[in-house]
Amino acid sequence: MVALGREVWIADMNSERKQHLRELPSANLCLDHPEVRALLRAYPRQRVVSAVRMAIGQMRIGLLQGQLGWLSRNELLVLAVSQVRTTLLGQACEGIQRVINATGIILHTNLGRAVLPEVSLEALVSVGRGYSNLELDLTTGKRSSRQAHVEGMLAKLTGAEAALVVNNNAAAVFLCLHTLANGKEVVVSRGEQIEIGDSFRIPDVIRQTGAKLVEVGTTNRTYLSDYANAITASTMVLLKVQRSNFHMVGFVASVSCGELAALARSRGLISMEDLGSGNLADLSRFGLRAQPTVNHSISEGIDLVTFSGDKLLGGPQAGIIVGRRHLVQRLAKNPIVRIMRIDKLTIAALEALLELYLDDEGLVEALPVLSMLALTQPELEARAVQLASLILDNVNGKGNAAVIDAEGEMGGGAMPGIKLPGKAVAFRPGHRSAHQIQTSLRLVGSQPPGGCLLPVVALVDADQVVFHLRTLLPGDEAEIVKALAVVMGGPST
Ligand SMILES: *Cc1c(COP(=O)(O)O)cnc(C)c1O
Repeated sequence: MVALGREVWIADMNSERKQHLRELPSANLCLDHPEVRALLRAYPRQRVVSAVRMAIGQMRIGLLQGQLGWLSRNELLVLAVSQVRTTLLGQACEGIQRVINATGIILHTNLGRAVLPEVSLEALVSVGRGYSNLELDLTTGKRSSRQAHVEGMLAKLTGAEAALVVNNNAAAVFLCLHTLANGKEVVVSRGEQIEIGDSFRIPDVIRQTGAKLVEVGTTNRTYLSDYANAITASTMVLLKVQRSNFHMVGFVASVSCGELAALARSRGLISMEDLGSGNLADLSRFGLRAQPTVNHSISEGIDLVTFSGDKLLGGPQAGIIVGRRHLVQRLAKNPIVRIMRIDKLTIAALEALLELYLDDEGLVEALPVLSMLALTQPELEARAVQLASLILDNVNGKGNAAVIDAEGEMGGGAMPGIKLPGKAVAFRPGHRSAHQIQTSLRLVGSQPPGGCLLPVVALVDADQVVFHLRTLLPGDEAEIVKALAVVMGGPST
């Protein structure tokens, strides 16, 4: 029936299009092309054959519908081969896999935010490999709460009375407002109506919880009296939100968490702070402007503080809530908490991470996020010099590599506006374009002859490919060199 339909089509077409259709390469001709033969060595035959059929089929449609201009027999073959290649590469890049982060952004949300410490990895593998006491009290043999594994440590580390951990910080904020302020008013400064990307916007989230947002102050200045004047009989929560991904300078004023907590207490309301990238460690030891810590907010009297597990904390994705016991108990009883439940692997990874924090001694060495932050200029420079010379040794004079100053950043909605001075290797790829090399480096793992190389995510600046040293893990330099050798040695694509 399909064939008949096509006959009718062809009969209706002018002879030029008919002629053109006859120029389409056959599947066998494509499979015999040297480039496809190379692909056949790298991918299962069945996948290559179906990619070939798909390419020819799409080109036939393109010709029939007149979207494809006039191409010679050979041009059509080349086009088919390149489509086969694109299809196979796209498929190979689909699965989640480890990649090398040469961007200098420590908490890159697109690259999975925090690199986990070794102890967390060991814990989650061990717990995942067998059964666990996730909700079993080994002493009594009775059912217990999965929260028990981390609650005590979180309370100890933050100085809070109680803690609850959910899927992520967005869920934590939602749970707090849904439980405590549904049908009531939540007061927030106009300077803190933030959007953190991926559609987390404070006003929208508040609306979804059933709470009513009351905006106070102006974009740049909000005073304590603004909050005080907005309080009505329906007010339930005074909310402070960390400006995670931007900062305000100039004629600005905002209310400290201590002042807000005191006002809430004096009026019988709940004070809450969304700290975003809340951290537990004092970062001033890295010469960084003091970052708000969770302990600070709790000691200033905030009733509930929420923050992410995979931002500055340096652990798995999680939303951590710490604060007053009676409030946390109410949160735990909300049926919606089940929808945002944290899983056993995350609990295992988080518990191991928190143990590191309890023993501050080896913290920086053990926690990748902090060790990356702690790298000094001389350390970065030494590694950059080494990487540059390795690259030069391996690209056979096909490009040039130099050490440059390059600023990285924390990323992931932490420390906005703070640049981390660092070092990078800038690679100028001879006559090839830097963007082309950047793309090939991302695809190197799926492209013969790269085979099982790791994809490399690098930046481009002034037609140079830039590899930041700060976010490279041990061994990554060797992988970059291998990938670059393949990309520069392979056929120009
Ligand atoms: C990052 C962030 C969130 C969302 O946290 P997730 O863990 O990504 O859900 C919420 N609020 C602020 C202020 C943030 O910085």
